[in-house]
Amino acid sequence: MDGTELRITIMNQLEREELVTRLEALNQAVIKWSAIYHGVGVDKGRSDCALCQKYLNNRRVCADCPVRKKTGLPACDDTPYQEWAIHFILDHWRGDGPYEVSCPECRRLAYKVLKFMYQLYLEEKYGEKKRILAN
Ligand SMILES: [Zn+2]
Repeated sequence: MDGTELRITIMNQLEREELVTRLEALNQAVIKWSAIYHGVGVDKGRSDCALCQKYLNNRRVCADCPVRKKTGLPACDDTPYQEWAIHFILDHWRGDGPYEVSCPECRRLAYKVLKFMYQLYLEEKYGEKKRILAN
């Protein structure tokens, strides 16, 4: 039994279901950003973000999103995603997108988002900070 299984064992059913869906949403975010980084995926903002689909309510407050819990801020403020979004506004503006890697800076920023999401996934899954990727 690893640490995740132990934590799940002592949780109640609702907490357990929430953790499973949260991990699944984070996993989907990692998959999305891996595809974008490798040039085979696009970013459609909140409409194709599994975390937004789960946590963004009608008032758009990102309540309980692990990204918001990490930063204390809504709408991915102060995250690598904000850097990615600003880069597109300044250098590749095309309205609502979708956005994909279009230059070396895009690729660098997509990698930062991927690392950020993967780090969050590891923290949620193992309940502690695990840094396995170098900066
Ligand atoms: Zn670019």
